[in-house]
Amino acid sequence: MILQEKKPIRAWPVIRAYLKAIRKYPALLVGVFVSSMILEGASIIAPLYLRDLIDTLSIGARTPGVVSVLLAILVVFAVVILIRWIAGLAQAFAINYIELWIMADLSNDAFVNLLGHSHDFFISNFAGSLTRKVSRYSRSFEQIFDTFFYSFFSTAVFAIGTIIVLFQRNTILGAALLVWTLFFLALQIILTRWRQPLRIARALEDTRMTGVLSDAVSNQSTISQFGASRHEHDIFAGAVEKWRAANLRSWNADAWTQGIQGFLTVVVQAGLLYGAIILWQRGVVTVGDFVLIQIYILALINHIWNVGGNLRRIYDAFADAYEMVDIMDRPHGVRDIPAARQLRVDSRDIVMRDVAFGFSDSRPILSHFSLSIRAGEKVALVGPSGAGKSTITKLLLRLYDTTSGTIEIDGQDIAKVTQESLRRAIAFVPQEPILFHRSLMDNIRYGRQGATDEEVMEAAKKAHCHDFIAGLPEGYETHVGERGVKLSGGERQRVAIARAILKDAPILILDEATSSLDSESESLIQDALKVLMEGKTVIVIAHRLSTIMTMDRIVVIEDGKIAAEGTHAELLDQKGGLYHKLWSIQAGSFVADGTV
Ligand code: ATP
Repeated sequence: MILQEKKPIRAWPVIRAYLKAIRKYPALLVGVFVSSMILEGASIIAPLYLRDLIDTLSIGARTPGVVSVLLAILVVFAVVILIRWIAGLAQAFAINYIELWIMADLSNDAFVNLLGHSHDFFISNFAGSLTRKVSRYSRSFEQIFDTFFYSFFSTAVFAIGTIIVLFQRNTILGAALLVWTLFFLALQIILTRWRQPLRIARALEDTRMTGVLSDAVSNQSTISQFGASRHEHDIFAGAVEKWRAANLRSWNADAWTQGIQGFLTVVVQAGLLYGAIILWQRGVVTVGDFVLIQIYILALINHIWNVGGNLRRIYDAFADAYEMVDIMDRPHGVRDIPAARQLRVDSRDIVMRDVAFGFSDSRPILSHFSLSIRAGEKVALVGPSGAGKSTITKLLLRLYDTTSGTIEIDGQDIAKVTQESLRRAIAFVPQEPILFHRSLMDNIRYGRQGATDEEVMEAAKKAHCHDFIAGLPEGYETHVGERGVKLSGGERQRVAIARAILKDAPILILDEATSSLDSESESLIQDALKVLMEGKTVIVIAHRLSTIMTMDRIVVIEDGKIAAEGTHAELLDQKGGLYHKLWSIQAGSFVADGTV
């Protein structure tokens, strides 16, 4: 459970966003307003005819003239309640349509906006919390719209209408009902505020209990290895006890609230009826008025009984919706410039010129960084962990914008072309590929939508994943679990390589793309990669230097700078250089595991 009470409540940005969505459906909105007005109007008018009916009955005469008057009143009464029924139905349908159209629009808008955010945005926000925000954005609309029309609007129209009618009948009765209504509403607001801290405490304990539970579930294997079930149960039972106590306090407060409200209804019912008796005695009100007052009071109580609770719900809904509105109002981190062109890739050379970049202002990762890669050149980036190798590829993919300096592909600044065309031109295989929870066929086909099954299988064969896929009970139709968890790291990498093979983009970036493979699979894949690299400009990041020995050029990165560059042989010649050092360390393990 999420603690909604701690969220900022900014109703206006939410109202603005929702009004923008509502504007698309003016006819439906008018329909909702008109049907709601008619519904409440008929609810006010119908009891008036009931009163007339009773007054006529109370004359006591059973003459044909009186009966025909009674029947005439009955007909009008029936017409009014029929109109009320039709208006109620029309209101329900109009609300169903408008809410669902708008909720669908809101979901789609939120989805498009969300996916337009930058890589940095996604790594700084939990996927779970983002998906919750999108769904709450549309659900909150339903909550607010429902509450407005079914509670606030209908209550306001009904209360104003009944008070006016009673005023016309008798000023004191009308004034009494007006004062009571205002008092009841004020009390509801006070009681809702009084309950609020108890609700917060209840939600907090609920979150804690769920947290303890999910912690235990995700650490199940550790708990069983350490034989700590009892210990965990003690922790959980403690959380449950606090949850129980907090809930009891909150529920009891609810019961008190209901009790106080109930008492007030007793007072108003008895009080107004007492007033009516006095007025009846003076000949001011009739028997029918008695019934009218009773019906009005009961209906009014029914209307305003939950206004306080609805006020709180609407408050929560605004808070929920604001979280997504806030995201949607935030400019996208990496944006296409207004007249962004499509990237045209002919020769496919890459130039990074005097690039500066840092994930935060206080810590630059690259400064004055320049690197040129000729068309068709195969370049390896090596160096210690944290040196900035992946950052270079992220800048090339424009997952981040450079602080200064430019990156050009075939003479075109990547900041001035569309992100879509840039990323279409680059096939990127990350160290830890994430897969959709879809079939393996669909996952590989992601490399090129529209590829035939045969083309997908061909790519899978080249990436050496066809055999393991064919061995699965459902073959290419196997679903791989959320983020691809049902596959091993090496299998996921091979699927990602198959995707890249299918994509066949002019520029290829492999970021530790074979690091999770065993030596045998890796050497097989290296062969496949060699074929894939043909005719392409390639950047490879690798820690295992044995995999990049044959590259055209090896660039050694240290602290965001180029420490050395050259071919494998040239760099090895630089005795005492970083590459030589790294190679010497790894050569020992190659010999040990028989790689060389
Ligand atoms: P490795 O070989 O371990 O993958 P690398 O050379 O690829 O390392 P980078 O991933 O480019 O290193 O990271 C360079 C530095 O930037 C590291 O110190 C890292 O902690 C930091 N860094 C990377 N990503 C972020 C981020 N999103 N926010 C803040 N700092 C980051």
